[in-house]
Parts: sequence; C-alpha cells; structure tokens
Amino acid sequence: MQIQNEVSLKSYNTFGIDVKAQKFVEVTQIADLQQLLAQTTEPILILGGGSNILFTQNFEGLVIKIKLKGIEVIQENEDFVWLEVAAGEVWHELVLYCVAQGYGGIENLSLIPGTVGAAPMQNIGAYGVEIREVLEQVQAIHRNTGEIHTFNNESCNFGYRESIFKNIHKDQYVITGVTLKLSKKPTFNTSYGAIQDTLKANKVETLSLKAISDAVCQIRSSKLPNPAEIGNAGSFFKNPVIPQSQFEALQKRFPNIVGYPLPEAQVKVPAGWLIENSGWKGKRFGNIGVHTRQALVLVNYGGGDGAAIRKLSQDIQASVLDKFGVEIKPEINIV
Ligand SMILES: Cc1cc2nc3c(=O)[nH]c(=O)nc-3n(C[C@H](O)[C@H](O)[C@H](O)COP(=O)(O)OP(=O)(O)OC[C@H]3O[C@@H](n4cnc5c(N)ncnc54)[C@H](O)[C@@H]3O)c2cc1C
Repeated sequence: MQIQNEVSLKSYNTFGIDVKAQKFVEVTQIADLQQLLAQTTEPILILGGGSNILFTQNFEGLVIKIKLKGIEVIQENEDFVWLEVAAGEVWHELVLYCVAQGYGGIENLSLIPGTVGAAPMQNIGAYGVEIREVLEQVQAIHRNTGEIHTFNNESCNFGYRESIFKNIHKDQYVITGVTLKLSKKPTFNTSYGAIQDTLKANKVETLSLKAISDAVCQIRSSKLPNPAEIGNAGSFFKNPVIPQSQFEALQKRFPNIVGYPLPEAQVKVPAGWLIENSGWKGKRFGNIGVHTRQALVLVNYGGGDGAAIRKLSQDIQASVLDKFGVEIKPEINIV
C-alpha cells in the first residue's frame, strides 16, 4: 500500500475534472483499509470508479480508491445463488459474469459504470430494475470505530437513487462488499418499451439473460455519451416526484408534459423533459455544457472546470423552478 502525494484525479473521475488529491492510495486489503481509517487524521474521500462524482476543487486530504476484489458463491440451492462480491469489482464485469453463469436479476443493469461498492449508495437502477431487488446484505466498515457492520436489505432504507449511506449515514461507512441473491430460473423484465423494441430489432425469439443484457448495452450506447469520449457522470439530476394535483395543474399549462404515476397520488416527472423544455438541451458554455441528445447529462468537452459545472447545474435548477415550479435535485455527489 503506497500513499502518493499531489495526485491528479483526472483519470479517476468520468467527468475528467483535473483536480488534485493531497494524498491518494489504492486499497486491495480490508486490513489496510482499517489501518488507514484508524491512522488518518485529515479528511477522507472514498472513491470507486468516480462515475457519480463532480470534483469542484482540489481534495485536501486522503483519497482512498477501493480496489478490493473477489466474487464468491457462498450458498446455492436449486433456484437461487448467493454471491458475495467485493466492493472494488467493476459493476458491469459482475453483470457479465452473472449473465455467463446464468444468474438472473441484474442483467437490466448492464453497462452502468462504476464499482460494486458504490452500487448500494444510490440504489443503482435502470430499465425497471434496482439493485435493492437482489441485494441481501451490505458489508461495511465504520469510518470512526473501524468496526465491521452488516446491513440487511431493510436497514439500507433504499429509495429512488437513495440509501441510508447517502443520507443518515453519509460519509460514515466504507462499503467493503455486498451479498446478492440471484435467480437460477430467471424471470425476464422487458417492461421497458425500448428493450422490447431492441429485442425485436435483434430478432430475438427466445429470451435469455444475454439477449436482455445485449439489448440494454445497445440502448445505453445509443442514448448516453461515453465518458471515454465526452466527460460526464450520467444523469446529473434525479427525476422529481410531485403531487398528482400539481402535475394536473402543470398539464393544463404544458399539455405535453410527461409523468409516471406513483402510489399515494404522486407523479414522477422526467427531469430531462423539464430541462429540455426550459431551453437547456445542447447549450454549450466554453468547454462545458448540456448534452445535445440528453438534457439530463451535463458534460465536460475537455479541460472543463467542476465549479463551473456546478454553477451551470444551479442555473438549470433555478430556471426549471422558475418555469415549472418544480425543484430538481442533483443525483451526483458534489465534492
Ligand atoms: C454514462 C453514465 C451512465 C450512468 N447510468 C446510471 C444508471 O443507469 N443508473 C444509475 O443508478 N447510475 C448511473 N450512473 C451513475 C454511476 O454509474 C453509479 O452511481 C455508480 O454506482 C457509481 O459508482 P462509482 O464506483 O463510480 O462511484 P463513485 O463515483 O466513485 O462514488 C460515488 C459516491 O459513492 C461513494 N463511494 C464509492 N464507493 C464507496 C464505498 N465502497 N464505500 C462507501 N462509499 C463509497 C463516494 O464517496 C461517492 O460519494 C451513470 C454514470 C455514467 C457516467
């Protein structure tokens, strides 16, 4: 374990923001992590793949990049398999492994960037599936006491892009691994029209985990900018949830507004629609901007400044609030 000084984080965040970490270390062993947590007095930032983070300044402290590895079958029966997966595994590689083994449950979450350890943080989700549906346990170390805690699904308090680790326990735990319960007799979730259309276009006659995973990869590659080409962190904002009555009032003023009904007379409104209809889609300001095809994604065309992206996000929030009276909140972690 080697602690380096003054390390550029440019290649460690998908926005490609060039800030420095005062100290930087990669951790491959839990014992090393515990030792670092016990010894370090300066601020600590835990980093996975850096795909859900916006750096707005240099980090004056220690950045710990989680590289704990391992995928292990810890239990199985005729119907299910329980996998213990270390936090530093790459999420999409885990998905591909599960697809190849015939373990169903996370194929709709193909191609989400980042690490396994960050996945429960915001209860990653896509195409009608969230990690909470297959997550049995989260193993984590308390940052102050060094104790190892196990959280079951219920105690993670999962919500839409939310968990206990992102709110009540924010910055209190380092996730070291997760246990997933996956199905050996999968039921396929093709509820999203785009998946059905792609399967049809691909002439898939018999559904399989691979066919769904391939379709999801295809859809995502056509819709979302590739961070290797244009710096971004996926959806910058969460989709706001508003009361049905407010949605109906908006519908009178904006007949084309899109909304998805939720329980308890709530409606989820796509933040991308609100941003696009506030005139931001494709707007470029020097080397940062709003993506040309997906208004929910803010981008760094190269050499962009994180603080400027934060300011742009605040301007977008203010303009959406002004036009629609709806508050949109960032999904990503701003540091
Ligand atoms: C092109 C693109 C598309 C995306 N699409 C989706 C999508 O469809 N659905 C979705 O849900 N997300 C999506 N995301 C967001 C992102 O991929 C996920 O949030 C992912 O889980 C982040 O993983 P990471 O390892 O990169 O986390 P990081 O960005 O490294 O960290 C995110 C946060 O978690 C903390 N953290 C990271 N690892 C740990 C750990 N082991 N213990 C404790 N805290 C930790 C960090 O401190 C930070 O606060 C997308 C991002 C991009 C760039």
